[in-house]
Amino acid sequence: MRQVAVDTWVEHAHFLNPGGQYRSGREANAVLAQARETIAGILGADPVEVIFTGSGTEADNLAIRGFAGTPGARIVSTPLEHPAVRETVTDLEKRGAAVDLLPAGPDGLVQLTCALDQPADVVTCMWANNETGAIQPIADVISRATATGSPVHVDAVQVVGHLPVDFHALGATTLAASAHKFGGPRGVGILLARRSPAPSPVLTGGGQQRGLRPGTVDVAAAAAAAAALEEAVAEMDAENKRLSKLRDDLIVAATHSIPDAYATVLGAEQPPHVLPGHAHLVFPGANGDAMIMLLDSHGIEASTGSACNNGVNQRSHVLEAMGLPADHADGALRFTLGRTTTQEDVDRLITVLPDVIEKARSVGSL
Ligand code: PLP
Repeated sequence: MRQVAVDTWVEHAHFLNPGGQYRSGREANAVLAQARETIAGILGADPVEVIFTGSGTEADNLAIRGFAGTPGARIVSTPLEHPAVRETVTDLEKRGAAVDLLPAGPDGLVQLTCALDQPADVVTCMWANNETGAIQPIADVISRATATGSPVHVDAVQVVGHLPVDFHALGATTLAASAHKFGGPRGVGILLARRSPAPSPVLTGGGQQRGLRPGTVDVAAAAAAAAALEEAVAEMDAENKRLSKLRDDLIVAATHSIPDAYATVLGAEQPPHVLPGHAHLVFPGANGDAMIMLLDSHGIEASTGSACNNGVNQRSHVLEAMGLPADHADGALRFTLGRTTTQEDVDRLITVLPDVIEKARSVGSL
């Protein structure tokens, strides 16, 4: 959590219910309104379109279930999605929704097909992938889907705070973000939701936040999220240059010093189609658990597949969708460099990685 977010949270922790009509309630509501205004201003939305949730997962659920929660709904999605979207779509399919998944290419990018040209209750596509860092052709997905009048939900959890976002210019109907991805508190999600078409409420209650997310809003957490986003966006250009260089150094060193190593998604394309801090490397034949444990013993924290699979190391559905053979997918490692990553960290990683991979290969793949 950024220090500015901690300080802002502490400053507002004593605020009362922003729904209260008394003076302290109105004061709390003013802080909440300011947080909404800050976030809306940065993300190109109107304040009324900013809905605070308990996570990015909740924001994804509210949008997708809110548009396509009725049996017989048509959903278009991708095989690359985070479980927050993927499991939601699968659940709706079990309840009678018709689901079309756009294919993915070996470059980690979703491919646009005629599935987008039939009206859907919702088209849901991530902006950037949490495993590979691949930035999807989201503007093309949106313009093609909206041409038939389909609402489009964008899972922008990996993008908000890291790349410029203009919700109105993008043309999406709803967009999900998560504060802990940009140095805000954990347990704070953001759903941007246009007034029309708006998803139907999934929860019922006191009608807060346009009835889309009823329940008392955590004012301190909302203010802390806004402060974190402000700082993240102010640092974005310089930080992205710094991280891209560290990321490229890591990829070059790893692929030169380790036989058969390669990066799934490269940063060289213009405009780049990978997040600045993501290095997604494949070491064919290496054992995933062994790589993680050996790196951990050096104090280096990396993940295979998706870290959100409850600590269970299973073959990545993203890499399967990209067509990677099993022994390549099992030997994939995701290094995510961020605000606190230094040149020394990357140098140390580059030093220990060849030995780690050699040992993990001697164990054999899963
Ligand atoms: N979507 C993507 C692309 C993510 O990377 C994540 C979390 O890593 C989520 C959704 C879920 O966000 P949260 O952890 O806030 O529920």
